[in-house]
Amino acid sequence: MTDQPTTHAFGAEVNQLLKLMINALYSNREIFLRELISNASDASDKLRFEALTNDALKGLDQELAIQVSFDSDKKTLTVEDHGIGMSQEEVIANLGTIARSGTRQFLEGLSGDAKSDANLIGQFGVGFYSAFIVADEVVVETRRAGSDPSEGTRWASNGEGEYQLTPITKDSHGTRIVLHLAEDHHDLLNQWQLQRIIKHYSNHIAFPIELIAPADASGDQGDKGDDPEASIEVVNEAKALWTRPKSEITDEEYTSFYTTLSHDNAPPLQWAHHQVEGTQSYSLLLYLPSQAPFDLLMNRDTVEGLKLYIQRVFIMDAAEQLLPRYLRFMRGVVDSADLPLNVSREILQDSPLLKKIRATVIKRSLDLIAKVTEAGDEEWKKFWDAFGTILKEGVIEDFENREKIASLLRFSSSESDKLTGLDQYIGRAGEDQKTIWYLTGDNLQVAKNSPHLESFKQQGTEVLLLTDRIDEWVISHLSTYQDFELKSVTAAAPDVDKDEAVSESAKKLAGRVKKALGERVGNVKPTSRLTQSAARIVLGDHEMSLQMQKLMRQAGQDVPETTPNLEINPEHPLIQAMASQSKARFEDLAQLVFDQALLAEGGELADPSAYIQRVNTLLVEAYAPDAS
Ligand code: ADP
Repeated sequence: MTDQPTTHAFGAEVNQLLKLMINALYSNREIFLRELISNASDASDKLRFEALTNDALKGLDQELAIQVSFDSDKKTLTVEDHGIGMSQEEVIANLGTIARSGTRQFLEGLSGDAKSDANLIGQFGVGFYSAFIVADEVVVETRRAGSDPSEGTRWASNGEGEYQLTPITKDSHGTRIVLHLAEDHHDLLNQWQLQRIIKHYSNHIAFPIELIAPADASGDQGDKGDDPEASIEVVNEAKALWTRPKSEITDEEYTSFYTTLSHDNAPPLQWAHHQVEGTQSYSLLLYLPSQAPFDLLMNRDTVEGLKLYIQRVFIMDAAEQLLPRYLRFMRGVVDSADLPLNVSREILQDSPLLKKIRATVIKRSLDLIAKVTEAGDEEWKKFWDAFGTILKEGVIEDFENREKIASLLRFSSSESDKLTGLDQYIGRAGEDQKTIWYLTGDNLQVAKNSPHLESFKQQGTEVLLLTDRIDEWVISHLSTYQDFELKSVTAAAPDVDKDEAVSESAKKLAGRVKKALGERVGNVKPTSRLTQSAARIVLGDHEMSLQMQKLMRQAGQDVPETTPNLEINPEHPLIQAMASQSKARFEDLAQLVFDQALLAEGGELADPSAYIQRVNTLLVEAYAPDAS
């Protein structure tokens, strides 16, 4: 066996990350210790979990304390755990490249503008590499639990493009990380300073964190083994946060636990902590984040977020089992006292107990969101901007909780500049109104100017303006809310129908328009519901809106062509003028009116150039009559 070091290059992303991070996080340097302790804690969790099923590891998970020690002479700070450790392959994969996919996506998303990038990275957990904020050399010695002492690995790097690997013999399994502190950071070699940082950021860690201080600060050994006088002090509570009585946990502790759990440096918006005792006992700690992680929208199948513990033993990331996808932004911990420790993913999938817990997680999450929504303040706005679109998926996915989810949604409205909910809409509705009217559109401006709104405005009936891509889809799954029916203004007549007022001559005109348009149109009717527009498209009660058809086609779906119906406004000067035109001119105008109604709808013209030609012919006649 050789103990010659071999040199390896970092993955390109690591270099990029290191450069960025060291400058960006300089003023927030203390987080490095949080990140290293959190990794040590994860590694201890992993060992405890693997020891449940792997006989070779039985008994190795007894002493899982994490040690932080320092040496004032050598200017080193050491974080050591007795967790799962790493094989050499794992060292290369984990410490030579970027292991965390979120970090990779984050790096891909950087703008290149140093200042805003620095800002971003400040909000982001950077894991192991944060050691280089304070160290100009980092040495990792590690050995996987269960392997032979000769199978240890030393990893060393100054964070400048390369690292060295050396095979070593390491007596204990687990990982020891030695930071050679840069000169600026020698002040960290101080018991009180370290104690404060650990308490501040890592108090919630479930394993004891022992701070080992040399008997005499100038003593040459930081390691208790070599310095019998060293003092050992357990700095943290060393109890899983969710098992402690709620009344004893400070907001700061909840927040710092969230940071470790989520890798999100922004504080959570809200949290809920439930300790359920009874036929089933479990603890639930749920967090509502204040910003979306980078991979949230892109990756609907992300499984991180909710950690499953059984009797305080970390079992797995179980978001898939415990959270529906429309709540995939939630973060937290479930700790069950009743599930068997040797549970597998397959068993979990069909466990009735887990189904019950899942239902509770959903209920509690929605309650938490409701709490933020009712406040309707800035917190809610943050939530809504980050996760509103995702929550909407719930109306589609979760039949059981549909009403409750719907009550949390907010939409634009024809009557208010602020977003409004369905309950508020109902609160403002007229006494006989039994319908929630809505209009879907590409964007708010188009929706606000839609011809369909004209009669509603005149009657003072509020219409919800749904302009999010997913709205149309959502609303198609929500035909009623409370005892109100949801109806599109394009599909239906308003309650007050004055259509008898339409004259015979208008009906005749409509007949001529139908003839001129032929197959392009279903039926053509006069209407008294338009005030400003010449015409509008109407669809049958169960027909997909043009907007929806467009979206579906864009998504690659096969959507059968529908034939839209047309309503014309006999009071409109253009429509009135049509009656006395030549046959050819009448046909042109009929096509134009129809195309315009389609455009106003956000639909697409089958033959845009024919439309332009017709308009231009008219313009030339109006402005350059000599040329025609
Ligand atoms: P993250 O912890 O978010 O995955 P890090 O960059 O901090 O990202 O660490 C990368 C990987 O290195 C971890 O996922 C883990 O597999 C491994 N690792 C880091 N620290 C330790 C440790 N103390 N013991 C065992 N493995 C570790």
